[in-house]
Amino acid sequence: MANYTNMELLKFLLFEVHPISSLFKYERFAHLNEEQAWMMIESAKLLADQEMAPYFKEMDETPAKYDGKGNVLTHPALQKIIATAAEQGWIGGSALFEHGGMQLPEMIFGTAHHLFQAANNGVQGYLGLSAGAAGLITSFGTIEQLEKYVPKIYSGEWQGTMALTEPQAGSSLTDISTNAKQLNNNEWLIKGQKIFISGGQHEACSNFIHLTLARIEGAPAGIKGISLFIIPKFRPTVEGTLEYNDVYCAGDFQKMGQRGYATTHLSFGDNNNCIGYLVGEPHKGLSYMFQMMNGARISVGLCAASVAMAAFQSSLQYCKERPQGRMPSEKDPTKPPIHIIHHADIQRMLLTQKAIAEGAISLGIECNKLYDLSHACNKEDRTKHLLLLEILTPIVKSYPSEQGSRAAALAIQTLGGYGFTTDFPVQQHYRDLKIMSLYEGTTGIQAIDLLGRKVVMENGKALELLIEEIKTTIDAANLFNELKSETEMLNNELSRITWVLKHISQYALEGNMEKYLADATVFLEMMSYTVIGWQWLKMALKASEQLALGGIAPNKKTFYEGKIHTCKFYFKYEMPHAAACSVTLLSESSLTSVSNFELFN
Ligand SMILES: Cc1cc2nc3c(=O)[nH]c(=O)nc-3n(C[C@H](O)[C@H](O)[C@H](O)COP(=O)(O)OP(=O)(O)OC[C@H]3O[C@@H](n4cnc5c(N)ncnc54)[C@H](O)[C@@H]3O)c2cc1C
Repeated sequence: MANYTNMELLKFLLFEVHPISSLFKYERFAHLNEEQAWMMIESAKLLADQEMAPYFKEMDETPAKYDGKGNVLTHPALQKIIATAAEQGWIGGSALFEHGGMQLPEMIFGTAHHLFQAANNGVQGYLGLSAGAAGLITSFGTIEQLEKYVPKIYSGEWQGTMALTEPQAGSSLTDISTNAKQLNNNEWLIKGQKIFISGGQHEACSNFIHLTLARIEGAPAGIKGISLFIIPKFRPTVEGTLEYNDVYCAGDFQKMGQRGYATTHLSFGDNNNCIGYLVGEPHKGLSYMFQMMNGARISVGLCAASVAMAAFQSSLQYCKERPQGRMPSEKDPTKPPIHIIHHADIQRMLLTQKAIAEGAISLGIECNKLYDLSHACNKEDRTKHLLLLEILTPIVKSYPSEQGSRAAALAIQTLGGYGFTTDFPVQQHYRDLKIMSLYEGTTGIQAIDLLGRKVVMENGKALELLIEEIKTTIDAANLFNELKSETEMLNNELSRITWVLKHISQYALEGNMEKYLADATVFLEMMSYTVIGWQWLKMALKASEQLALGGIAPNKKTFYEGKIHTCKFYFKYEMPHAAACSVTLLSESSLTSVSNFELFN
């Protein structure tokens, strides 16, 4: 079986770059140690190897498909995969003991999910959705709701979903129109349509718990009138039986990627018999849902990074084995061809993929650690970790999604014509990856979130904290002469962010929000390059520290040297894009705010 990730990298990130051991001093994680953490990651790898990777291609070739009768037919292996993953704790493992979990940090849970995502990204989607839905019920539901739904979701018998999108309300959830009419204290009659619902009503689970956004009759317009409901496909009765709850799967969507992962159209209340159960207070649904959405955004980003990693691993293997051509200085045609990994252009494409995939995985683990710390530590530190997580979320979601697609395209390119064929998996990685920049908020929406909300929140405190964190890494890396040019460049990028923000903030101060946000995506891109540069500097710093200690085995030495080499590559080939973004951002012209659409003809 081809490699789809690099276990040595995961060890390096978990134990050296973002040391997980710093979590174990907190009560919440005191039952764990490094050895146990790694054993769990290794057991997840086994599961990914044995139960997920073997079906990656098959699930693409025999996609999930609507049966015309309200069900989506999925690959026969899916039921066992979900059940086995559930049994091993990969749905409910991060929940507290008292809620039936193993109280695992996201650093472990998320890294295990990275393995599933790299092995077979669609399959991980089913598990991730269930984990998120159960987490939402646990955080905001009643004890009764928790007891009724969460254990069944954690056991893998029931599937959790998130049902937000409607035909007229995708990016703009303000426009949700699914309706809820109160029947009694606990029950609400639901009517409406939801589209694009992942993991909805397939064959591998016996019930579906849709965490659904709807508008209570008479609620205020806009997001302040949206409430969150639990809507099961089959509602549990007081007698302990299950009763059909009038949630009909009206069809599915056939897609260019993630074809084994069911995407459904759900119709609630066609027969006026769909009951929803309110979660928390009325009209606060969107703020509750943000818990699941924020978690899902980190997970989607990590998924994109994981798929890019899998494509890179295939590409690397191919380049080491494919003989083609000779070095430019070799004029003798009788000499045998060399493996293409010798060619500089191939090395450029491999290093670009490595820089994107590993940099993005590192950022995903950094975010998971911030999440863990925010749940484990005292109130003061919690605010800091949460603010950092807030500002990094649009970046951890969008950088891997956008740049991961570029990396997967390069993986195809390194294979030449074979990359375009279904004989190799890289074209599937490329197709699967595209969705990551669309769901859980498109890149455009992430950009508006970053510039419109996150950089200004708490008077710019989140950005201030992020800059402080990056400067701490720069100071430490400055002790190593070989990293001086990278530290200098990263420092300049921080000044550039401040300078650009000062420049564009004037539009916001003038009340011209359209102009302020017009190039939000370019700003997101600029900040993303800087943040990934920070991750690379962190990795190079740790590698330099280890090399300075000496006495390292040759293969480990090469591993560390590879980190420094890739860091230098990133700063030479990728980081300059940030400066290009700033040129666009500092330009006064408003080319993207035209009102005469004839200009596009
Ligand atoms: C395979 C798949 C699985 C999905 N799974 C789920 C799921 O499980 N649950 C769920 O609820 N939803 C799910 N979705 C829906 C997904 O979240 C939406 O498709 C996404 O949020 C975009 O909404 P839309 O498709 O309506 O596009 P639109 O919102 O119409 O966006 C179209 C384009 O306009 C841009 N745009 C929109 N508004 C603005 C703005 N204000 N400023 C600038 N640009 C803007 C967008 O960035 C995008 O480029 C899924 C979608 C797919 C395709």
